[in-house]
Amino acid sequence: MIQRLIRLAMEARLNAYTPYSNFTVGAALLTTDGTVFTGCNVENAAFTPGNCAERTAVFKAVSEGYKEFEQIAIVGGKKGEQPKEYCSPCGVCRQVLVEFADPKTFQVIIAKSEEDYQVYRLEDLLPLSFGPESL
Ligand SMILES: [Zn+2]
Repeated sequence: MIQRLIRLAMEARLNAYTPYSNFTVGAALLTTDGTVFTGCNVENAAFTPGNCAERTAVFKAVSEGYKEFEQIAIVGGKKGEQPKEYCSPCGVCRQVLVEFADPKTFQVIIAKSEEDYQVYRLEDLLPLSFGPESL
């Protein structure tokens, strides 16, 4: 499943809209029932309205009625190039993931290729997070 998610993230990355940074990111989010939602980063001339690949995937899933997730694979790097580094989710995306995923079990897969990847628990990427159970 990890290789499949990475492959889907790589495919989604091809759709990234990044005329300003030329840094393209793709994400593939696995729901608890096995459905996968993909996303890419979408930039904007005014900069702040842009959206990350991870949040694009989460918002697509939530808008389709899915709110329980198990894993997300993320692939990012310079447009048209194989990733040289692992692309980890930004702080905002980590916070959005905490809203819908159990930080103790949800896995974040950051990949350079289908064979070269790292797996982290969301809790390790966003310790002491403020989530729905905090209210
Ligand atoms: Zn982000």
